[in-house]
Amino acid sequence: MTHRIILMGAPGSGKGTQAVRLAEHYGIPTISTGKLFREHISARTEMGRLAQQYINDGELVPDEFTVNMVEERLTHPDTAGGYILDGFPRTAAQAQALEECTCSAPITEVVDLVVDADAVVARLLNRAQIEGRSDDTEDVIRRRMEVYRENALPLQDFYRARGLLREVSAMGAVQEITDRILTVLGQ
Ligand code: AMP
Repeated sequence: MTHRIILMGAPGSGKGTQAVRLAEHYGIPTISTGKLFREHISARTEMGRLAQQYINDGELVPDEFTVNMVEERLTHPDTAGGYILDGFPRTAAQAQALEECTCSAPITEVVDLVVDADAVVARLLNRAQIEGRSDDTEDVIRRRMEVYRENALPLQDFYRARGLLREVSAMGAVQEITDRILTVLGQ
């Protein structure tokens, strides 16, 4: 079966880590909007210039730019055998745009990584020291959590209504979480 998976979850829920592991397991690419934006910023493109301030403030990049960037990426031939979306969609409007886009066949599963909010802030502060991301300061982390909370319910409802939502606890060891996800996805 072809997997076109959305990986959802709060900042620091381990989406990026799990996306890479699932991509390896299935031999399909991971498309991470946060990573794509950071690459645009490093390459000093117009998209990077547009996105930078939003990212530094912990705000979402406007849907229009984000959706265009993902739609373009989904037309690349490496997505033909499936893909994992990490960090997209983050709003119901983005989910709607993805559903209507002719750039991809329908999403097959949505995995929602469920974490405890306090644990997540600690994880992010730890990552800040390791990776040095410009949006991993405490204030920005708190704002990113707020933005996540504002959007999470409508997004979950969107995919629950379509019978695609699979909730998985993302507390515990990395491998255990991967195993849980693979079980939910039928391996
Ligand atoms: P991430 O690496 O997924 O934590 O994303 C880092 C930042 O990129 C977010 O805090 C947003 O500013 C921006 N971003 C990533 N994905 C999206 C998205 N789907 N919609 C809007 N902004 C996004």
